[in-house]
Amino acid sequence: MFKKVLIANRGEIALRVIRACKELDIHTVAVYSEADRDSLHTRFADDDVCIGRAPSRDSYLNIPRIIAAAEITGADAIHPGYGFLAENAEFADIVRTSNITFVGPSGDQIRQMGDKAAARKLAQKLKVPTVPGSPGPVEDAEAGLKVAEKIGFPVIIKAAAGGGGKGMRVAQDEEQFPQAFSLAKQEALAAFGSDEVYLEKYLARPRHIEIQIMGDTHGRIMHLCERDCSVQRRHQKLIEEAPSPAVDQTLRQDIGDAAVRLAEAIAYVGAGTIEFLLDEDGSFYFMEMNTRIQVEHPVTEMCTNFDLVKEQIRVAAGEPLSFVMNGNRLRGHAIECRVNAEDPSRNFQPSPGTITVYHPPGGPGVRVDTHIYAGYSVPPYYDSLLAKLIVHGNSREEALARMRQALDSFIIEGVTTTIPFLSRVMRHPDFIAGRVDTKFLEREPQLLQSATPPTVPAPSARPVPA
Ligand code: ADP
Repeated sequence: MFKKVLIANRGEIALRVIRACKELDIHTVAVYSEADRDSLHTRFADDDVCIGRAPSRDSYLNIPRIIAAAEITGADAIHPGYGFLAENAEFADIVRTSNITFVGPSGDQIRQMGDKAAARKLAQKLKVPTVPGSPGPVEDAEAGLKVAEKIGFPVIIKAAAGGGGKGMRVAQDEEQFPQAFSLAKQEALAAFGSDEVYLEKYLARPRHIEIQIMGDTHGRIMHLCERDCSVQRRHQKLIEEAPSPAVDQTLRQDIGDAAVRLAEAIAYVGAGTIEFLLDEDGSFYFMEMNTRIQVEHPVTEMCTNFDLVKEQIRVAAGEPLSFVMNGNRLRGHAIECRVNAEDPSRNFQPSPGTITVYHPPGGPGVRVDTHIYAGYSVPPYYDSLLAKLIVHGNSREEALARMRQALDSFIIEGVTTTIPFLSRVMRHPDFIAGRVDTKFLEREPQLLQSATPPTVPAPSARPVPA
Protein backbone atom coordinates (compact mmCIF):
# COMPACT_ATOMS: atom_id res chain seq x y z
CA MET A 1 0.00 0.00 0.00
CA PHE A 2 1.08 3.61 -0.50
CA LYS A 3 2.93 5.46 2.23
CA LYS A 4 2.00 8.97 1.15
CA VAL A 5 -0.62 10.29 -1.25
CA LEU A 6 -0.58 13.82 -2.65
CA ILE A 7 -3.99 15.25 -3.46
CA ALA A 8 -3.83 17.45 -6.54
CA ASN A 9 -7.04 19.28 -5.73
CA ARG A 10 -8.81 21.55 -3.26
CA GLY A 11 -12.17 21.98 -1.54
CA GLU A 12 -14.41 19.21 -0.33
CA ILE A 13 -12.91 16.52 -2.58
CA ALA A 14 -9.42 17.13 -1.15
CA LEU A 15 -10.85 16.57 2.33
CA ARG A 16 -12.74 13.51 1.13
CA VAL A 17 -9.51 11.93 -0.14
CA ILE A 18 -7.62 12.87 3.04
CA ARG A 19 -10.29 11.08 5.11
CA ALA A 20 -10.02 7.94 2.99
CA CYS A 21 -6.21 7.98 3.31
CA LYS A 22 -6.37 8.38 7.07
CA GLU A 23 -8.60 5.32 7.32
CA LEU A 24 -6.11 3.40 5.22
CA ASP A 25 -3.23 4.64 7.38
CA ILE A 26 -1.66 6.58 4.51
CA HIS A 27 0.03 9.95 5.00
CA THR A 28 -1.26 12.85 2.93
CA VAL A 29 0.12 15.91 1.17
CA ALA A 30 -2.10 18.89 0.39
CA VAL A 31 -1.18 21.31 -2.36
CA TYR A 32 -2.73 24.76 -2.26
CA SER A 33 -2.79 28.08 -4.06
CA GLU A 34 -2.19 31.40 -2.36
CA ALA A 35 -5.98 31.88 -2.23
CA ASP A 36 -6.38 28.63 -0.28
CA ARG A 37 -3.92 29.19 2.55
CA ASP A 38 -6.71 28.97 5.12
CA SER A 39 -8.39 25.97 3.56
CA LEU A 40 -9.15 22.96 5.69
CA HIS A 41 -7.37 20.56 3.34
CA THR A 42 -4.08 22.23 4.21
CA ARG A 43 -4.83 21.85 7.89
CA PHE A 44 -5.84 18.19 7.86
CA ALA A 45 -3.11 16.86 5.56
CA ASP A 46 0.18 15.74 7.10
CA ASP A 47 2.22 17.92 4.72
CA ASP A 48 1.26 20.91 2.64
CA VAL A 49 2.93 22.71 -0.21
CA CYS A 50 1.99 26.05 -1.75
CA ILE A 51 2.06 25.57 -5.52
CA GLY A 52 1.44 29.09 -6.74
CA ARG A 53 -0.90 31.97 -7.24
CA ALA A 54 -4.68 31.87 -7.10
CA PRO A 55 -5.60 31.39 -10.77
CA SER A 56 -5.84 27.63 -11.47
CA ARG A 57 -3.36 27.75 -14.34
CA ASP A 58 -0.72 29.01 -11.90
CA SER A 59 -1.46 26.36 -9.27
CA TYR A 60 -3.95 23.49 -9.53
CA LEU A 61 -3.35 23.13 -13.27
CA ASN A 62 0.42 23.56 -13.09
CA ILE A 63 1.78 20.06 -13.71
CA PRO A 64 5.51 20.71 -13.03
CA ARG A 65 4.74 22.31 -9.66
CA ILE A 66 2.50 19.47 -8.58
CA ILE A 67 5.10 16.87 -9.58
CA ALA A 68 7.78 18.88 -7.75
CA ALA A 69 5.58 18.97 -4.63
CA ALA A 70 5.19 15.18 -4.79
CA GLU A 71 8.93 14.70 -5.21
CA ILE A 72 9.89 17.08 -2.40
CA THR A 73 7.49 15.44 0.04
CA GLY A 74 8.22 11.87 -1.07
CA ALA A 75 4.64 11.08 -2.10
CA ASP A 76 4.35 7.73 -3.88
CA ALA A 77 0.91 8.37 -5.38
CA ILE A 78 -1.20 11.30 -6.62
CA HIS A 79 -4.98 11.44 -6.36
CA PRO A 80 -6.40 13.98 -8.81
CA GLY A 81 -9.93 14.33 -7.35
CA TYR A 82 -12.36 15.68 -9.95
CA GLY A 83 -12.00 18.70 -12.22
CA PHE A 84 -8.60 20.39 -12.71
CA LEU A 85 -6.20 17.66 -13.96
CA ALA A 86 -8.38 14.62 -13.19
CA GLU A 87 -9.04 13.83 -16.86
CA ASN A 88 -5.79 15.14 -18.28
CA ALA A 89 -4.08 12.19 -20.02
CA GLU A 90 -0.76 14.01 -20.20
CA PHE A 91 -0.80 14.55 -16.44
CA ALA A 92 -1.50 10.85 -15.83
CA ASP A 93 1.43 9.97 -18.12
CA ILE A 94 3.82 12.44 -16.50
CA VAL A 95 2.91 11.23 -13.01
CA ARG A 96 3.75 7.68 -14.07
CA THR A 97 6.99 8.57 -15.81
CA SER A 98 7.99 10.34 -12.59
CA ASN A 99 7.64 6.95 -10.86
CA ILE A 100 4.60 8.04 -8.93
CA THR A 101 1.32 6.10 -9.07
CA PHE A 102 -1.64 7.94 -10.56
CA VAL A 103 -4.83 7.06 -8.70
CA GLY A 104 -6.89 6.62 -11.82
CA PRO A 105 -6.82 5.01 -15.25
CA SER A 106 -3.90 5.10 -17.70
CA GLY A 107 -3.28 8.09 -19.94
CA ASP A 108 -4.40 6.01 -22.91
CA GLN A 109 -7.68 5.07 -21.27
CA ILE A 110 -8.33 8.74 -20.49
CA ARG A 111 -7.53 9.59 -24.12
CA GLN A 112 -9.81 6.89 -25.50
CA MET A 113 -12.79 8.20 -23.54
CA GLY A 114 -11.83 11.87 -23.46
CA ASP A 115 -12.57 12.18 -27.16
CA LYS A 116 -16.34 11.94 -26.97
CA ALA A 117 -16.75 11.44 -30.72
CA ALA A 118 -14.33 8.48 -30.60
CA ALA A 119 -16.02 7.07 -27.48
CA ARG A 120 -19.33 7.18 -29.37
CA LYS A 121 -17.77 5.14 -32.17
CA LEU A 122 -16.48 2.58 -29.69
CA ALA A 123 -19.95 2.30 -28.15
CA GLN A 124 -21.46 1.72 -31.60
CA LYS A 125 -18.91 -1.01 -32.30
CA LEU A 126 -19.90 -2.71 -29.04
CA LYS A 127 -23.60 -2.42 -29.95
CA VAL A 128 -24.23 -0.03 -27.06
CA PRO A 129 -26.95 2.34 -28.32
CA THR A 130 -25.95 5.97 -28.97
CA VAL A 131 -28.17 8.97 -29.71
CA PRO A 132 -28.70 9.26 -33.49
CA GLY A 133 -26.12 11.71 -34.79
CA SER A 134 -23.02 12.20 -36.91
CA PRO A 135 -20.85 9.11 -37.36
CA GLY A 136 -17.79 11.11 -36.26
CA PRO A 137 -16.55 14.70 -36.01
CA VAL A 138 -18.17 17.22 -38.39
CA GLU A 139 -15.87 19.46 -40.43
CA ASP A 140 -17.96 22.47 -41.32
CA ALA A 141 -21.44 23.95 -41.01
CA GLU A 142 -22.43 22.72 -44.46
CA ALA A 143 -21.61 19.10 -43.67
CA GLY A 144 -23.25 19.55 -40.25
CA LEU A 145 -26.45 20.83 -41.77
CA LYS A 146 -26.68 17.74 -43.98
CA VAL A 147 -26.39 15.47 -40.93
CA ALA A 148 -28.88 17.62 -38.99
CA GLU A 149 -31.43 17.39 -41.79
CA LYS A 150 -31.00 13.64 -41.87
CA ILE A 151 -31.45 13.07 -38.12
CA GLY A 152 -34.05 15.83 -37.78
CA PHE A 153 -34.12 19.03 -35.70
CA PRO A 154 -33.56 19.96 -32.91
CA VAL A 155 -29.91 18.90 -32.76
CA ILE A 156 -27.15 19.45 -30.24
CA ILE A 157 -23.64 20.34 -31.36
CA LYS A 158 -21.05 19.04 -28.90
CA ALA A 159 -17.33 19.53 -28.41
CA ALA A 160 -15.49 16.23 -28.86
CA ALA A 161 -13.17 17.22 -26.01
CA GLY A 162 -16.09 18.64 -24.00
CA GLY A 163 -16.98 18.46 -20.34
CA GLY A 164 -18.81 20.42 -17.65
CA GLY A 165 -21.56 21.43 -20.02
CA LYS A 166 -19.20 23.63 -22.07
CA GLY A 167 -18.95 23.71 -25.85
CA MET A 168 -22.54 22.55 -26.37
CA ARG A 169 -25.14 24.38 -28.44
CA VAL A 170 -28.66 23.46 -29.43
CA ALA A 171 -30.05 24.36 -32.84
CA GLN A 172 -33.84 24.23 -33.05
CA ASP A 173 -33.95 24.53 -36.82
CA GLU A 174 -32.01 24.99 -40.03
CA GLU A 175 -31.92 28.75 -39.55
CA GLN A 176 -30.27 28.60 -36.12
CA PHE A 177 -27.82 25.94 -37.20
CA PRO A 178 -24.90 27.92 -38.72
CA GLN A 179 -24.61 30.27 -35.74
CA ALA A 180 -25.00 27.51 -33.14
CA PHE A 181 -22.38 25.48 -35.00
CA SER A 182 -19.80 28.26 -35.07
CA LEU A 183 -20.47 29.23 -31.44
CA ALA A 184 -19.99 25.62 -30.31
CA LYS A 185 -16.72 25.46 -32.27
CA GLN A 186 -15.46 28.75 -30.79
CA GLU A 187 -16.41 27.76 -27.25
CA ALA A 188 -14.78 24.36 -27.69
CA LEU A 189 -11.55 25.90 -28.91
CA ALA A 190 -11.44 28.40 -26.04
CA ALA A 191 -12.28 25.85 -23.34
CA PHE A 192 -10.51 22.71 -24.55
CA GLY A 193 -7.97 23.83 -27.16
CA SER A 194 -9.71 21.80 -29.89
CA ASP A 195 -12.60 22.90 -32.05
CA GLU A 196 -13.66 19.40 -33.09
CA VAL A 197 -17.44 19.00 -32.75
CA TYR A 198 -20.03 16.31 -33.48
CA LEU A 199 -23.81 16.22 -33.70
CA GLU A 200 -26.58 14.42 -31.84
CA LYS A 201 -30.32 14.58 -32.05
CA TYR A 202 -31.53 16.75 -29.15
CA LEU A 203 -33.93 14.59 -27.15
CA ALA A 204 -37.05 16.38 -25.92
CA ARG A 205 -37.37 15.15 -22.32
CA PRO A 206 -34.57 12.74 -21.41
CA ARG A 207 -33.40 11.74 -17.97
CA HIS A 208 -29.69 11.70 -17.20
CA ILE A 209 -28.82 8.24 -15.89
CA GLU A 210 -25.24 7.25 -15.15
CA ILE A 211 -23.62 4.01 -14.04
CA GLN A 212 -20.80 3.87 -11.51
CA ILE A 213 -18.04 1.53 -12.62
CA MET A 214 -15.07 0.14 -10.74
CA GLY A 215 -12.30 -1.92 -12.31
CA ASP A 216 -9.10 -3.44 -10.95
CA THR A 217 -5.72 -4.41 -12.43
CA HIS A 218 -6.73 -8.08 -12.27
CA GLY A 219 -9.19 -7.71 -15.11
CA ARG A 220 -12.33 -7.48 -13.04
CA ILE A 221 -14.94 -4.79 -13.71
CA MET A 222 -18.25 -4.30 -11.97
CA HIS A 223 -20.95 -1.70 -11.87
CA LEU A 224 -22.55 -0.22 -8.79
CA CYS A 225 -25.95 0.66 -10.27
CA GLU A 226 -27.20 3.99 -11.45
CA ARG A 227 -27.49 7.58 -10.34
CA ASP A 228 -30.21 9.86 -11.65
CA CYS A 229 -28.87 13.36 -12.30
CA SER A 230 -31.79 14.80 -14.23
CA VAL A 231 -32.22 18.02 -12.26
CA GLN A 232 -29.87 20.28 -14.19
CA ARG A 233 -29.33 23.84 -15.13
CA ARG A 234 -27.68 24.56 -18.45
CA HIS A 235 -26.62 20.93 -18.71
CA GLN A 236 -25.00 20.98 -15.28
CA LYS A 237 -26.11 18.79 -12.41
CA LEU A 238 -27.69 20.25 -9.29
CA ILE A 239 -29.40 17.30 -7.58
CA GLU A 240 -28.60 13.60 -7.86
CA GLU A 241 -30.18 10.47 -6.48
CA ALA A 242 -29.75 6.72 -6.35
CA PRO A 243 -31.49 4.57 -7.32
CA SER A 244 -33.37 6.33 -10.13
CA PRO A 245 -37.15 6.46 -9.70
CA ALA A 246 -37.35 5.69 -13.43
CA VAL A 247 -35.22 2.55 -13.51
CA ASP A 248 -36.51 -0.92 -12.67
CA GLN A 249 -34.41 -4.03 -12.12
CA THR A 250 -34.53 -5.13 -15.78
CA LEU A 251 -33.50 -1.72 -17.10
CA ARG A 252 -30.81 -1.48 -14.39
CA GLN A 253 -29.38 -4.77 -15.57
CA ASP A 254 -29.45 -3.71 -19.24
CA ILE A 255 -27.82 -0.30 -18.71
CA GLY A 256 -25.36 -1.80 -16.23
CA ASP A 257 -24.36 -4.53 -18.72
CA ALA A 258 -23.86 -1.92 -21.46
CA ALA A 259 -21.66 0.14 -19.14
CA VAL A 260 -19.56 -2.87 -18.14
CA ARG A 261 -19.15 -3.82 -21.84
CA LEU A 262 -17.71 -0.39 -22.57
CA ALA A 263 -15.38 -0.41 -19.58
CA GLU A 264 -14.21 -3.92 -20.42
CA ALA A 265 -13.43 -2.92 -24.00
CA ILE A 266 -10.72 -0.59 -22.71
CA ALA A 267 -9.75 -2.80 -19.72
CA TYR A 268 -10.67 0.08 -17.46
CA VAL A 269 -8.98 0.41 -14.07
CA GLY A 270 -10.31 2.55 -11.22
CA ALA A 271 -13.54 4.46 -10.64
CA GLY A 272 -15.41 5.67 -13.70
CA THR A 273 -18.87 6.73 -14.74
CA ILE A 274 -20.69 5.90 -17.93
CA GLU A 275 -23.36 8.46 -18.71
CA PHE A 276 -26.56 7.73 -20.59
CA LEU A 277 -29.70 9.53 -21.61
CA LEU A 278 -32.93 7.68 -20.90
CA ASP A 279 -35.69 8.64 -23.30
CA GLU A 280 -39.38 8.79 -22.44
CA ASP A 281 -40.01 5.51 -24.26
CA GLY A 282 -37.48 3.65 -22.09
CA SER A 283 -34.67 3.56 -24.68
CA PHE A 284 -31.27 4.49 -23.34
CA TYR A 285 -28.30 5.96 -25.19
CA PHE A 286 -24.62 6.19 -24.29
CA MET A 287 -23.44 9.77 -23.95
CA GLU A 288 -19.92 9.76 -22.53
CA MET A 289 -17.60 8.27 -19.95
CA ASN A 290 -15.96 10.22 -17.12
CA THR A 291 -12.69 8.61 -16.12
CA ARG A 292 -12.57 9.85 -12.53
CA ILE A 293 -14.49 10.02 -9.28
CA GLN A 294 -17.62 12.17 -9.69
CA VAL A 295 -18.96 14.96 -7.49
CA GLU A 296 -22.08 12.87 -6.91
CA HIS A 297 -20.33 9.63 -5.88
CA PRO A 298 -21.68 9.81 -2.28
CA VAL A 299 -25.22 8.80 -3.28
CA THR A 300 -23.81 5.53 -4.56
CA GLU A 301 -21.76 5.12 -1.40
CA MET A 302 -24.81 5.63 0.79
CA CYS A 303 -26.87 3.04 -1.11
CA THR A 304 -24.15 0.42 -1.43
CA ASN A 305 -22.25 0.98 1.82
CA PHE A 306 -18.94 0.97 -0.07
CA ASP A 307 -16.27 3.65 0.21
CA LEU A 308 -15.48 4.41 -3.42
CA VAL A 309 -12.47 6.60 -2.70
CA LYS A 310 -10.78 3.99 -0.51
CA GLU A 311 -11.49 1.44 -3.23
CA GLN A 312 -9.94 3.74 -5.85
CA ILE A 313 -6.78 3.94 -3.76
CA ARG A 314 -6.69 0.19 -3.17
CA VAL A 315 -7.04 -0.73 -6.83
CA ALA A 316 -4.40 1.88 -7.77
CA ALA A 317 -2.07 0.04 -5.40
CA GLY A 318 -2.74 -3.16 -7.35
CA GLU A 319 -5.18 -4.80 -4.94
CA PRO A 320 -8.14 -6.71 -6.37
CA LEU A 321 -11.65 -5.27 -5.91
CA SER A 322 -12.57 -5.82 -2.29
CA PHE A 323 -16.23 -6.42 -2.96
CA VAL A 324 -18.54 -7.77 -5.64
CA MET A 325 -21.74 -6.12 -6.62
CA ASN A 326 -24.12 -7.43 -9.19
CA GLY A 327 -26.74 -4.78 -9.41
CA ASN A 328 -29.04 -5.96 -6.64
CA ARG A 329 -27.30 -4.82 -3.52
CA LEU A 330 -28.88 -1.39 -3.23
CA ARG A 331 -30.00 -0.43 0.23
CA GLY A 332 -32.60 2.32 0.60
CA HIS A 333 -32.46 5.63 -1.24
CA ALA A 334 -30.01 8.53 -1.30
CA ILE A 335 -30.30 12.10 -2.54
CA GLU A 336 -27.56 14.72 -2.94
CA CYS A 337 -28.06 18.47 -3.19
CA ARG A 338 -25.20 20.65 -4.35
CA VAL A 339 -25.13 23.74 -2.18
CA ASN A 340 -23.47 26.49 -4.18
CA ALA A 341 -22.54 30.09 -3.37
CA GLU A 342 -24.82 31.32 -6.15
CA ASP A 343 -27.99 33.33 -6.55
CA PRO A 344 -30.59 31.32 -8.54
CA SER A 345 -32.78 34.41 -9.01
CA ARG A 346 -29.85 36.14 -10.76
CA ASN A 347 -29.06 33.43 -13.22
CA PHE A 348 -27.00 31.56 -10.63
CA GLN A 349 -24.51 34.38 -10.39
CA PRO A 350 -21.61 33.37 -8.09
CA SER A 351 -21.65 34.96 -4.64
CA PRO A 352 -18.14 34.79 -3.18
CA GLY A 353 -17.53 36.30 0.26
CA THR A 354 -16.96 35.39 3.87
CA ILE A 355 -19.10 32.83 5.71
CA THR A 356 -20.21 34.54 8.91
CA VAL A 357 -22.39 31.83 10.41
CA TYR A 358 -22.19 28.12 9.67
CA HIS A 359 -24.34 25.40 11.15
CA PRO A 360 -24.65 22.10 9.26
CA PRO A 361 -27.62 19.76 9.60
CA GLY A 362 -27.24 16.40 11.29
CA GLY A 363 -29.10 13.36 12.52
CA PRO A 364 -29.50 9.84 11.15
CA GLY A 365 -28.72 9.40 7.47
CA VAL A 366 -27.39 12.94 6.95
CA ARG A 367 -23.94 13.51 5.47
CA VAL A 368 -22.30 16.84 4.67
CA ASP A 369 -19.16 16.84 2.51
CA THR A 370 -17.72 20.33 2.74
CA HIS A 371 -14.62 22.42 3.27
CA ILE A 372 -16.29 25.53 4.64
CA TYR A 373 -16.50 26.86 8.20
CA ALA A 374 -17.52 30.08 9.95
CA GLY A 375 -14.95 32.72 9.03
CA TYR A 376 -13.97 30.99 5.77
CA SER A 377 -13.72 33.23 2.73
CA VAL A 378 -15.04 31.70 -0.50
CA PRO A 379 -12.44 32.67 -3.11
CA PRO A 380 -13.75 33.97 -6.44
CA TYR A 381 -11.28 31.90 -8.48
CA TYR A 382 -12.77 28.42 -8.38
CA ASP A 383 -16.17 26.73 -8.67
CA SER A 384 -18.84 27.84 -6.26
CA LEU A 385 -19.58 24.51 -4.57
CA LEU A 386 -19.86 25.13 -0.83
CA ALA A 387 -21.10 21.77 0.35
CA LYS A 388 -22.73 18.57 -0.76
CA LEU A 389 -25.67 17.62 1.41
CA ILE A 390 -26.41 13.92 1.11
CA VAL A 391 -29.19 12.06 2.86
CA HIS A 392 -30.06 8.40 3.01
CA GLY A 393 -33.42 6.88 3.93
CA ASN A 394 -34.98 3.44 3.88
CA SER A 395 -37.29 4.64 1.12
CA ARG A 396 -37.31 7.56 -1.31
CA GLU A 397 -40.08 9.13 0.76
CA GLU A 398 -37.98 9.00 3.90
CA ALA A 399 -34.95 10.38 2.04
CA LEU A 400 -37.06 13.28 0.71
CA ALA A 401 -38.42 14.15 4.15
CA ARG A 402 -34.91 13.94 5.53
CA MET A 403 -33.53 16.21 2.82
CA ARG A 404 -36.27 18.79 3.44
CA GLN A 405 -35.55 18.96 7.15
CA ALA A 406 -31.79 18.94 6.58
CA LEU A 407 -32.00 21.85 4.12
CA ASP A 408 -34.29 23.76 6.49
CA SER A 409 -31.74 23.48 9.29
CA PHE A 410 -28.66 24.16 7.16
CA ILE A 411 -27.48 27.64 8.13
CA ILE A 412 -24.91 29.41 6.00
CA GLU A 413 -24.76 33.18 6.32
CA GLY A 414 -22.54 35.78 4.67
CA VAL A 415 -22.97 34.53 1.09
CA THR A 416 -26.06 33.84 -1.00
CA THR A 417 -26.62 30.09 -1.34
CA THR A 418 -28.82 27.78 -3.37
CA ILE A 419 -30.36 26.25 -0.20
CA PRO A 420 -33.80 27.98 -0.51
CA PHE A 421 -33.99 26.95 -4.17
CA LEU A 422 -33.09 23.32 -3.37
CA SER A 423 -35.68 23.34 -0.64
CA ARG A 424 -38.35 24.46 -3.13
CA VAL A 425 -37.39 21.66 -5.53
CA MET A 426 -37.73 19.10 -2.72
CA ARG A 427 -41.32 20.31 -2.26
CA HIS A 428 -42.28 20.37 -5.93
CA PRO A 429 -44.93 17.76 -6.81
CA ASP A 430 -43.04 16.59 -9.90
CA PHE A 431 -39.82 16.03 -7.97
CA ILE A 432 -41.74 14.31 -5.18
CA ALA A 433 -43.35 12.03 -7.78
CA GLY A 434 -39.94 11.35 -9.37
CA ARG A 435 -41.28 12.83 -12.63
CA VAL A 436 -38.34 14.98 -13.68
CA ASP A 437 -36.16 15.19 -16.75
CA THR A 438 -33.29 17.44 -17.80
CA LYS A 439 -35.73 20.19 -18.89
CA PHE A 440 -37.56 20.29 -15.55
CA LEU A 441 -36.14 23.65 -14.43
CA GLU A 442 -36.74 25.22 -17.84
CA ARG A 443 -40.42 24.40 -17.40
CA GLU A 444 -40.53 25.62 -13.79
CA PRO A 445 -38.67 28.95 -13.80
CA GLN A 446 -40.59 30.07 -10.69
CA LEU A 447 -38.45 27.66 -8.67
CA LEU A 448 -35.55 30.03 -9.24
CA GLN A 449 -37.36 33.00 -7.75
CA SER A 450 -36.87 33.50 -4.04
CA ALA A 451 -40.39 34.89 -3.44
CA THR A 452 -42.21 31.73 -4.53
CA PRO A 453 -43.85 29.89 -1.69
CA PRO A 454 -43.31 26.11 -1.70
CA THR A 455 -45.89 24.25 -3.81
CA VAL A 456 -46.51 21.65 -1.11
CA PRO A 457 -46.23 22.52 2.58
CA ALA A 458 -43.21 21.06 4.32
CA PRO A 459 -44.08 17.83 6.12
CA SER A 460 -41.54 18.90 8.73
CA ALA A 461 -43.83 21.84 9.50
CA ARG A 462 -46.49 19.47 10.84
CA PRO A 463 -46.50 18.86 14.60
CA VAL A 464 -44.32 15.94 15.60
CA PRO A 465 -46.20 13.29 17.61
CA ALA A 466 -44.83 12.80 21.10
P1 ADP B 1 -20.54 17.32 -20.60
O1 ADP B 1 -19.44 16.37 -20.94
O2 ADP B 1 -20.21 18.74 -20.93
O3 ADP B 1 -21.06 17.14 -19.19
P2 ADP B 1 -22.63 15.64 -21.70
O4 ADP B 1 -22.43 15.06 -23.05
O5 ADP B 1 -22.36 14.74 -20.53
O6 ADP B 1 -21.73 16.96 -21.57
O7 ADP B 1 -24.08 16.24 -21.57
C1 ADP B 1 -24.46 17.01 -20.45
C2 ADP B 1 -25.97 17.19 -20.42
O8 ADP B 1 -26.43 17.80 -21.63
C3 ADP B 1 -26.78 15.92 -20.30
O9 ADP B 1 -26.90 15.47 -18.98
C4 ADP B 1 -28.12 16.37 -20.89
O10 ADP B 1 -28.86 17.11 -19.98
C5 ADP B 1 -27.69 17.30 -22.01
N1 ADP B 1 -27.60 16.57 -23.29
C6 ADP B 1 -26.47 16.09 -23.85
N2 ADP B 1 -26.73 15.47 -25.02
C7 ADP B 1 -28.06 15.56 -25.22
C8 ADP B 1 -28.96 15.11 -26.25
N3 ADP B 1 -28.52 14.47 -27.31
N4 ADP B 1 -30.28 15.39 -26.10
C9 ADP B 1 -30.74 16.05 -25.01
N5 ADP B 1 -29.95 16.50 -24.01
C10 ADP B 1 -28.62 16.27 -24.11
